[in-house]
Amino acid sequence: MNFSCKAEQIAPSLTLAITAKAKKMKAEGIDVIGFGAGEPDFNTPENIQKAAIEAMKKGLTRYTPASGISELKDAIIKKFKNDNGLSYTQSQIIISTGAKQCLANVFQAILNPGDEVIVPTPYWVSYPELISLADGVPVYVNSGDENNFKYTVEDLKAVLTNKTKAIIINSPNNPTGTIYNKKELQQIAEFCKENDIAIISDEIYEKLIYGNKEHVSIASVSEDAYNRTIVINGVSKSYAMTGWRIGYAAGPEKIIKLMSNIQSHTTSNPNSIAQYAAVEALEGEQETIKFMINEFRNRKDYMVDRINNINSISCINPDGAFYVMIKIDTLLNKNFNGEIIKDSMDFSRLLLECEKVAVIPGDAFGVNNYIRLSYATSMENIKEGLNRIESFINKIK
Ligand code: PMP
Ligand code: GLU
Repeated sequence: MNFSCKAEQIAPSLTLAITAKAKKMKAEGIDVIGFGAGEPDFNTPENIQKAAIEAMKKGLTRYTPASGISELKDAIIKKFKNDNGLSYTQSQIIISTGAKQCLANVFQAILNPGDEVIVPTPYWVSYPELISLADGVPVYVNSGDENNFKYTVEDLKAVLTNKTKAIIINSPNNPTGTIYNKKELQQIAEFCKENDIAIISDEIYEKLIYGNKEHVSIASVSEDAYNRTIVINGVSKSYAMTGWRIGYAAGPEKIIKLMSNIQSHTTSNPNSIAQYAAVEALEGEQETIKFMINEFRNRKDYMVDRINNINSISCINPDGAFYVMIKIDTLLNKNFNGEIIKDSMDFSRLLLECEKVAVIPGDAFGVNNYIRLSYATSMENIKEGLNRIESFINKIK
């Protein structure tokens, strides 16, 4: 039997696959250090857990409206107003099974076959595949470390065609941690206005910022930007709720309606209990986020310092999210135990096989001369993992 050509083209999510492999090795008793995790290593805060239990006890365990419950939409509207200075009505909000489903919905809602979406490289692993699944074409714009992993309007002009439909901005960025400032966002928004391009702004790491930079939503930089932006956010990263699967999107009523129609036929509403828990996440006390951010900051500072003191590798100090990108250029085409390390996939495979350290190859993000390490793991693991990485690198000739 022939299967769907489209489905055959889709690669599995490498970030999820490597994280699962490291967890499995651990369960088998292998002493593996996992730097793959794209999720906080903290448990969901107590107050949020309690809200879920309450919801179950009250019998709030049935279908909800496909686009989400009114209480959570109100909490999201309040969050956008307070944190981003953005005003939305309920018909401009959709709640989905994770930010990932919001992204899947939005590409399905706006793309026709052959429409192009500009994707910054390094990119989060799922953007190209989600665009392809919606019959769109990802077009890459390189945002190298020369400019702190940010693309400029000049870069965008170079890839613009008459098929460009949308652009992705992901600030704070996965995998680089980069944050765009207001002026840069204004310039990008102006470019999108001139060329009538939709903006998909993935702001899922909004709360995870470590220095004095502030998060600005591109939707807030002008009225025009507001009208052409779909903001994607969620509770997974900020509230240590990755398993609960609640994400949300806000934008023009027409697009949100299309997304809701699609969702009503695919998954229906996101989990009812998790929606009530998410109300508490957004409206309850926010102290646990502060604790988490402090922990992440300490780990990041240690990691960046340590990496930049290991021969042959380097990294820039990320402003947000919980990842560090390590540059491995000088180790490529070198020899480890008789094998030539051709790319980041070889590097990551050998590191896992020989030193039992799991990292994500830059290949997952479209950059072959990097590996990504997540610092959503204990300081103890970070210290031991970096010792092993150093020992691995010392064996490369
Ligand atoms: N966007 C980015 C940049 C991410 O790193 C993630 C993490 N998986 C998501 C979206 C999706 O998050 P979730 O589906 O867990 O809400
Ligand atoms: N976004 C996280 C990561 O990049 C989680 C895994 C995923 O959803 O791809 O590792």
